[in-house]
Amino acid sequence: MMNQVSTRRLAEWLDGALQTPRFKDYCPNGLQVEGRDTIRHIITGVTASQALLDVAVQQDADAILVHHGWFWKNESPVLRGSRRRRIATALQHGLNVFGFHLPLDAHPVWGNNAQLGQRLGFEPDRDADGVPLTFGPGDLIWRGRCRPCTLQELGRHVGDVLGRPALTLGDPHKPVATVAWCTGGAQNMMDAAIESGMDVYISGEASEQNFHMANETGTGYIAAGHHATERYGVQALGQAIADEFGIKVEFVDLDNPV
Ligand SMILES: [Zn+2]
Repeated sequence: MMNQVSTRRLAEWLDGALQTPRFKDYCPNGLQVEGRDTIRHIITGVTASQALLDVAVQQDADAILVHHGWFWKNESPVLRGSRRRRIATALQHGLNVFGFHLPLDAHPVWGNNAQLGQRLGFEPDRDADGVPLTFGPGDLIWRGRCRPCTLQELGRHVGDVLGRPALTLGDPHKPVATVAWCTGGAQNMMDAAIESGMDVYISGEASEQNFHMANETGTGYIAAGHHATERYGVQALGQAIADEFGIKVEFVDLDNPV
């Protein structure tokens, strides 16, 4: 018999494992749209876009699991246009939609920040119990050490690992050994990174002011891509689900240049 898990059981396990109720977020976390009541096959991705839904339907998956789900606080709740099409696709095909935003950024092992730091070879600062020392708004920023090099060299390394050139701002020859990082669209948290005294801050996207902040404060800034920095948490979580329930979980990387 093919391995399967009930939707309800998986939803409960995920909420427990990711401590979903602990987070104040801009979207609901967990099972956002209920589909079939049994799950044998999950497609994971960064964003619950129409393209990801189409892949899931084509492969007859029972669920998608993403970092960027639906029902964001700042968007209209009206179901028109592409929002209607996405939801209609999920409902028509009985697809469950699981979305985990901040809980998946923050998780100490499977989280986007933990996974990005690991891939980039950073050594996170930890307390005596081994808990990563995070700081800034929502305690979302990680900190630690990288192999000592110049800002320019670190920017190249980040681009090589992520397979996408990184935008590096600040004095290219500045020596760097301490690093702060927060995946995705966390460029507006650069102030906290500067105050922390780290040599360089890494996030996904860049805003116009990051250029001036990097030049005027001496804290380097590397924008490594929103999608590129947030590809890894959902893959680690997918592996954990596969290990726990023995079901089929596949990551689909639909590239996004932002
Ligand atoms: Zn994001």
